Amino acid sequence: TERSGALEIRGLSARYGPVTALDAVDIHANPGRITAVLGANGAGKTTLLRTISGLVRGSDGSVLLGGRDLTGAPAETIARAGIAHVPEGRGVITELTVEENLRLGALLGTARRGSAGRGRLDEVYDMFPALGDRRRREAHSLSGGERQMLVIGRALLSEPEVLLLDEPSLGLAPRVVAQLFALIRDLVDSEGLTVLLVEQNARSALSIADTGFVLNLGRVVAAAGAAELAADDDLRHAYLGF
Ligand code: ATP
Repeated sequence: TERSGALEIRGLSARYGPVTALDAVDIHANPGRITAVLGANGAGKTTLLRTISGLVRGSDGSVLLGGRDLTGAPAETIARAGIAHVPEGRGVITELTVEENLRLGALLGTARRGSAGRGRLDEVYDMFPALGDRRRREAHSLSGGERQMLVIGRALLSEPEVLLLDEPSLGLAPRVVAQLFALIRDLVDSEGLTVLLVEQNARSALSIADTGFVLNLGRVVAAAGAAELAADDDLRHAYLGF
């Protein structure tokens, strides 16, 4: 299948009871680009990703992938459409080994394409040697940082069109974060992957992103090129914390 992975979020709203977590959010993320979603705690970043991937039901608005309307579709349909969600520090299957978890990601990719993938298992182990060392261990024995590596590795093995990353730097050593970001940049540049990168660490997110959206209390308060956002002193002080 073609990587026609432009992600278009239009007027998306979501509520938890009386709490409006997303309020008419418009965001687009293009293939071959890293789009950062920034904002303080509680701005609605996690809810945005959960609504896109079908884990939270939006109350209004729409989600389109390459023009295909996925609004309100079950999470499984959205995953099969090529949107891989890497939740914040969760999502490993603790009863399975590290390698079995990774093979599940590769299986999803094979199921989507109808043919075997290029098998990036070794690449994942190269990127995260801790996972290679523990490939036969059950995932419950992993540290928080190692679990984070495992869910990211599994998502990459599914060869998605769109990668939704929720705070991927959390719990990882700075050296591993740098390596991970470089690998994501490579994938985006070489394969036209669409990445929506949620980070509280706005400074490092903007250093690899192409464009960014800033959320505050569920609303988009700024949208611009990454360099432009990073250069805006008022915006940085008000919303980005650096
Ligand atoms: P964080 O970085 O802390 O995850 P965030 O920007 O991702 O922050 P969300 O987690 O999406 O923000 O939260 C947005 C708003 O929705 C907040 O006011 C939060 O308290 C509320 N919220 C999030 N999850 C729930 C829930 N399950 N039930 C009720 N309110 C929720």
